[in-house]
Amino acid sequence: MSNDILVFAEQRGGKLHPAAAQIVTPARDLAGKTGGRVIACVIGGDLGAAVDAIDRAGVDAIVTVSDPSLEQYTATRYRSALAAVIAKVQPRIVLLPATFMGRDLAPRVAVRCNAALATDVVELTIGSGGGLDVRRPVYNGKASCRVQFPAGRLAIASIRANTFAAPGGGGGAARESLPFSAAPGDDRATFKELARAGGEVKDVTEADIIVSGGRSLKSEENFKILFDLAKALDAAVGASRAACDAGYQPHSRQVGLTGKTVTPALYIACGISGAIQHLAGMRGSKVIVAINTDKEAPIFKIADYCIVGDLFKVVPALTAEVRKLRGA
Ligand SMILES: Cc1cc2nc3c(=O)[nH]c(=O)nc-3n(C[C@H](O)[C@H](O)[C@H](O)COP(=O)(O)OP(=O)(O)OC[C@H]3O[C@@H](n4cnc5c(N)ncnc54)[C@H](O)[C@@H]3O)c2cc1C
Repeated sequence: MSNDILVFAEQRGGKLHPAAAQIVTPARDLAGKTGGRVIACVIGGDLGAAVDAIDRAGVDAIVTVSDPSLEQYTATRYRSALAAVIAKVQPRIVLLPATFMGRDLAPRVAVRCNAALATDVVELTIGSGGGLDVRRPVYNGKASCRVQFPAGRLAIASIRANTFAAPGGGGGAARESLPFSAAPGDDRATFKELARAGGEVKDVTEADIIVSGGRSLKSEENFKILFDLAKALDAAVGASRAACDAGYQPHSRQVGLTGKTVTPALYIACGISGAIQHLAGMRGSKVIVAINTDKEAPIFKIADYCIVGDLFKVVPALTAEVRKLRGA
C-alpha cells in the first residue's frame, strides 16, 4: 500500500462533474499528511475534456480507463474498472464525490476491494493512529458521527458535494492509461436507455445558486417567475415536495429528505414553509434567503436573510434588481 490518495474523477459525456474537482481539495490536504501523491482516475468511453479539467484542479498523476463499453455508466463495469486502478495504484485512501454515481459505485468498490467505507463525508483528516478519520452528518443533519478507519487497510470515502471549493492552478500531471477488461458478472447490469429529466435546465445538485418554490406558487405557470430569477442569477430551480406532488414541477427538482440534498452557496426559498423534511435537503446551504408571507414560518429559523412578503411581488422585484446590477 502506498501513501497516495486516489480521486475518482466522475465524468459524463467527456464533462467532469463539478463535485469531482472539489474533492481534490481534501485529497491534497490528506496527501500533505501522508506524504503521498494525489492521483485522479477517469473512467469512461470518450473522456473528452474531463482529463484536462481534473488536471487543472491540481492532481499529481492521472490514470485513465477508456473503453467503448464504458461510455454509459453501469455500476458493475465501473466497479471493475475502478478496482483495477486501485489494484495498480495501491492507494491508501480512495475519495469519490457523493453524487448519484458515487453513491452507487463506492459500496460496490469497497466490497470488491475488501475496503472500509464511509459515505457522505464532510470532514477528513488522518487520525493519531495513522488511519483516515472522518465526520459525516446523520439523522438529516441533526447530528454527526465520527468514523475512524483502521490504519493499514484501504479506506474509501464519498464526499458530500459543495463541501469543499475546487482548487485550481494545476496542469501537467503525468498521464497513464489502463486497458479495460471486464470481470465475470459485469454484464449482470447492462445499459438500456438514458432518459434525461429536466431537459436543458441546470440540475439542483450541480448549481451554486438555487431558487426554490413551494406549494404557494399554485401552478406550473406561476413557476415562470422563479425561472426568470434563476436565469438572471444563472441558478437552478428547485421545489418542495408539496409543489412536486401537485405537479407544478417534476420530482427531479425536489429538494429534501425524499428528494435531493443540496449545499449551494445561495438557496432562495420562495413560499416554502420549512418543514423538517425540506430542511433535511438544504440546511447545509451556505446562505439561505427565505421569502414568506408568514413571519412565523419555520424556514425563517434557519434563514440568513428573511423577507416577510408576497413572493409574487418580491421575486419579480428581485429579478429586476439582479438584471439591473448585471446590466442585462
Ligand atoms: C416521509 C416524508 C418525506 C418528505 N420529504 C419531503 C422532501 O423531500 N421535500 C419536501 O419539501 N417536503 C417533504 N415532505 C413534505 C413536508 O413535510 C412538507 O409537507 C412540505 O415540505 C411542504 O411544502 P411547502 O413548504 O411547499 O408547502 P406548505 O407547507 O403548504 O407551505 C407553503 C408556505 O408558503 C407560504 N406562502 C403562501 N403564500 C405565499 C406567498 N404569496 N408568498 C410567500 N409565501 C407564501 C405559507 O406561509 C407557507 O409557509 C415529506 C414528508 C414526509 C412525511
